[in-house]
Amino acid sequence: KIVVVGSTNMDYVLKTNELPKLGETLSAMSFNTVFGGKGANQAVAAARLGAEVTMIAAVGDDSIGEQLKDNLAKESINVEGVNVVEGPSGVAMITVADNGDNTIVVYPGANGKIDEKWLEANEALIMSADCILVQLEIPINVVMKAVKIASDNNVKVIFNPAPAKEFPNDIFKYVDIITPNETELKKISGKEDIKEGAMELIERGANSVVVTLGEQGSMYIDKDNTISAGSFTVKSIDSTAAGDAFNAALGIKLIESDDIEDGLKYSNAVGALVTTKLGAQTSLPFKNEVEAFMKN
Ligand code: ADP
Repeated sequence: KIVVVGSTNMDYVLKTNELPKLGETLSAMSFNTVFGGKGANQAVAAARLGAEVTMIAAVGDDSIGEQLKDNLAKESINVEGVNVVEGPSGVAMITVADNGDNTIVVYPGANGKIDEKWLEANEALIMSADCILVQLEIPINVVMKAVKIASDNNVKVIFNPAPAKEFPNDIFKYVDIITPNETELKKISGKEDIKEGAMELIERGANSVVVTLGEQGSMYIDKDNTISAGSFTVKSIDSTAAGDAFNAALGIKLIESDDIEDGLKYSNAVGALVTTKLGAQTSLPFKNEVEAFMKN
């Protein structure tokens, strides 16, 4: 059983020939509303991979909030822990130009309003989990509270430090694995080299680090060991949500066994499959697709 404590957003995606200049009004070629938010993406990914998933989050009391919650429920995710708070839901306004450049403006909305009281009220959900997944799109005090409840109750904790921002080193006491991508690791550790960056986090208190390396796969590092797992070769067209799906897969494997190499391999397969399709949640694979892919 997996519990995700995190964000849920509606993304409004406009495709344009080029990015708008200051003060300019552009005509878009297409418009799509897409379910997003790292928390929700990870929850949906885990559910599609066959886990029993509960999401703890906040949505606004607007029509977007209803859609966000319905979407999770449709993916067979338990939404008991999704609070409806006053004000707008979290949204992102995204412009994507022909050459792939983008501009993104995020309004956290309800994601910024989830509080420690809500977590306390839903403590039992976390306590009954095997593993929780947290990211950095909700207030850090809420993330801290969630990992503390989990750790105090022997629930495994995966901390995905995305988007990269500051957090107290104290968090490492409660975290089993921190999972930055390469860019996040550089930003958080201040080191250019991956291994040095990971060792820096270990010095700050991290138990173990799993770095996702895009088409290079992923790497596990703790005090004594380094384990690398190469990626799967795919025709990659859009890496959105690859990291989110990787985290969900890693959480599932962490529950099943201590075999890190196997966990990285499976998570790499899931991440690779995501990159073969356009979009965020639309590209998240189902368990049977991953199994078929890994057999080939
Ligand atoms: P993020 O989406 O957070 O930037 P990454 O780009 O590192 O994270 O991708 C997460 C995982 O997805 C990688 O560790 C890898 O396993 C897989 N992946 C990403 N891009 C590719 C690619 N081009 N080919 C194969 N696998 C990929």
